[in-house]
Amino acid sequence: MKPLFHSSLYEFDKPQPSYWEATAGANNLKNEPLVESQSCDVAIIGGGYTGLSAALHLARDYDIDVCLLEAGHIGWGASGRNGGFCTMGMTKVSLEAQLRKFGVEQTRQFHQSQADAVNLVRRIGEDEGIDFLAQGDCEFVVADSDAHFAKMQKSADMKRTLLGLDVTIHGQDEFREIGYDSPHQHGAMALRPSFALHPLRYAQGLAAAAERRGARIHPRSEVIRWHKDGDSHRLETAGGSLTAKQVILTGNGFMPEHLHRGVQGRPLPLQSAIVVTRPMSDDELRQKGWHTESPIINSKHMFFYYRLLSDRRFLLGARADHSGAPAGAEKTYAGMKRSIACMWPQFADLEYTHQWRGLVCFAMNLRPSIGRMPEDRSIYFAYGYHGNGVNSATWSGRELAKWLAGKESGNSILPGHLPAIVRGRPPRFPLAGLRRQYLRVGLSVYRLRDYFDW
Ligand SMILES: Cc1cc2nc3c(=O)[nH]c(=O)nc-3n(C[C@H](O)[C@H](O)[C@H](O)COP(=O)(O)OP(=O)(O)OC[C@H]3O[C@@H](n4cnc5c(N)ncnc54)[C@H](O)[C@@H]3O)c2cc1C
Repeated sequence: MKPLFHSSLYEFDKPQPSYWEATAGANNLKNEPLVESQSCDVAIIGGGYTGLSAALHLARDYDIDVCLLEAGHIGWGASGRNGGFCTMGMTKVSLEAQLRKFGVEQTRQFHQSQADAVNLVRRIGEDEGIDFLAQGDCEFVVADSDAHFAKMQKSADMKRTLLGLDVTIHGQDEFREIGYDSPHQHGAMALRPSFALHPLRYAQGLAAAAERRGARIHPRSEVIRWHKDGDSHRLETAGGSLTAKQVILTGNGFMPEHLHRGVQGRPLPLQSAIVVTRPMSDDELRQKGWHTESPIINSKHMFFYYRLLSDRRFLLGARADHSGAPAGAEKTYAGMKRSIACMWPQFADLEYTHQWRGLVCFAMNLRPSIGRMPEDRSIYFAYGYHGNGVNSATWSGRELAKWLAGKESGNSILPGHLPAIVRGRPPRFPLAGLRRQYLRVGLSVYRLRDYFDW
């Protein structure tokens, strides 16, 4: 089975040329690939936040013998190359549709769990001594027009009163003082307790913490075959094999669909790209009228996400092209730089030092998925964070660990103790080989909606 995107997106032996790779510093991981024949109670496929958080919690909180296999280095996937927004999200179902389908109580539980998930990341950082360079004290959503600001005020009211979230609204003049100025700035909404961090330092810190608590973490150990003999799973890599009674399958946008039919055709990977400028001095930044270190998105369907980095560089991320070929990526980066010059004329003269890309994961039902395979209840999974994940994947990993260790839901394939929005497996796409084409149509609709402001 061929991966959906261009092969340059799946080179596990090559790190992305990201700002994060350049500034992660030394880590104290054992860094040993799997060798020979080994066994454990729980095997984890994938060394991003989902797998690493599951490994940490299984080893630390439940004393379970756990072994994680990662195809690249730790954080090779989205977890080591994202924007570092520890913010709330995880679904593309609108708030109105969430309320209609799941009711107020379930929707409230879901949003509260997203805020808890942000706090969980902070707590792990403190408890495990991970220096992930936290910045900011909220996430801002900036209105792109007066009409968006009017809608935002209504949505803020609902979030506050129905969902119990910590939300504040800031008019255009006020946001100019606390955030920034731009012809596309028409006021903003702030959500707490979100913040920003260094994503690769966080991923490596999680892995080091899991190793310290007894988990075995093996980078450069791609699972190439998966057999089931009786009750035992056998995962094979180029250098060894791992036998386990239970498996946690992660992967999100890089999901190894070829390994198990229970996941085939269900994730919808989607490219996201990031560009980073040279550092600015504090004076330069003041002159350019930029005041906040909190992470920001704008209110469009095809939105930008952006933030200041700890050394005063500007980072901007956006959706990228449909093929994944390097030429398409170059076009995307050039388009993003033009957009920066248009949205923030004060940044038009800045040079760029880093650009890179990766895959996020959507699903047909526009919701994240946590569950057990109906075909084999000894396989647990969590994926489909819809462009979010720093908080969501960390939280999902912990919830998988809790579920697996405590059997809260008995033999059920659904985690009944979690909000309904995250339960179970997403549907398989019909003619799943056409997923990139579906994506092209979906994103064109988003562009039209932005164009006509609908
Ligand atoms: C450019 C970009 C920007 C983003 N920005 C943000 C942001 O600012 N905030 C936010 O919350 N989220 C962001 N995200 C999303 C977020 O990074 C992800 O949702 C999250 O990291 C998913 O974690 P994961 O562990 O599930 O998957 P990943 O981190 O993608 O990890 C999956 C791992 O599985 C491994 N794997 C695949 N196949 C195999 C195999 N056969 N054997 C062994 N291992 C295998 C891969 O090598 C990979 O490392 C961004 C993503 C991208 C790409």
